[in-house]
Amino acid sequence: ATPTALLVGTGRAAQLGILIKGPEILESTRQVDTIVLDKTGTVTEGRMRLAEVLTPAGDDHAAHVLRLAGAAEAGSEHPIARAVTEAARAAQDGSPLPRSTDFSNHAGQGVSATVDDGGTPRLVLVGRPSWLAAQGVVGAAPEDAVTREHRAAERDGATAVVAAWDGRARGALTLRDEVKDTSPEAIAQLRTLGITPYLLTGDNRAAAERVATRVGIAPDHVVAEVLPEQKLDVVTDLQAQGKVVAMVGDGVNDAAALAQAGRRGLGLAMGTGTDVAIEASDITLVRGDLRAAPTAIRISRRTLRIIK
Ligand code: ADP
Ligand code: MG
Repeated sequence: ATPTALLVGTGRAAQLGILIKGPEILESTRQVDTIVLDKTGTVTEGRMRLAEVLTPAGDDHAAHVLRLAGAAEAGSEHPIARAVTEAARAAQDGSPLPRSTDFSNHAGQGVSATVDDGGTPRLVLVGRPSWLAAQGVVGAAPEDAVTREHRAAERDGATAVVAAWDGRARGALTLRDEVKDTSPEAIAQLRTLGITPYLLTGDNRAAAERVATRVGIAPDHVVAEVLPEQKLDVVTDLQAQGKVVAMVGDGVNDAAALAQAGRRGLGLAMGTGTDVAIEASDITLVRGDLRAAPTAIRISRRTLRIIK
């Protein structure tokens, strides 16, 4: 039998855009002492915008890099892909992007596709330089010009990817994403509740630390450059240290970590995110406002105080 107070608690939460899968979930929020926040789309808007296309000095083909990269990314829903494709379309003056075939997505690494470049089929790759280098792309090693541009952009706090075709790195594309206005306050409220926040991302460390500083997360609580399958390990490691972990995420990449957090703590999905993340979670924050996370925990603590 479910105590009435739990049902009232879930009803109150629903009015605030916090959907709780079952009243018993409120029980597990009580002990939460640690919260792991996905960066892109959870703490930030997740709407990246293309800032620059950087090509090695004397190499004037930025428009070409953007066009082929945009065509290759057209098959991906990733915020990086959307930003690149949107900017490439906008630069086309109404004509369509080149056709692409054989698209494949490599989670946490990049994409590849064959793009029709005015009649010439080109194998285009867009992604992390380390991944490109592992695919045998020339010019994607740390000392190469394009990679140096990439690293400089990252040091400056941007997200950057490299575009390559026919086995050679051609340019770096830099992107920016904004922190949601509500995120700093959400994190301050979590701290007030005695919960320690961590920032988790596949993105580069400099970009991650820039976001962490903006929202009040300590640099030593930033876990950056993690592959999608390692997000789960971050949660498991914290649990092994005896922490009761809540995780908030929005992406396909976050689903396993969300489910693991839910086993002993809490998984929370952004309602603005993917269905996979929502299905893996105990709670959905319908409006995608991170302040709903401390609200959910506060409601649940208050509800349980009434019962006990
Ligand atoms: P996050 O955890 O911030 O959501 P992801 O795990 O999705 O990040 O991606 C990590 C990194 O992998 C990106 O910063 C980028 O370098 C690369 N990457 C992933 N998807 C793509 C893509 N569609 N195009 C280019 N690069 C990508
Ligand atoms: Mg995300």
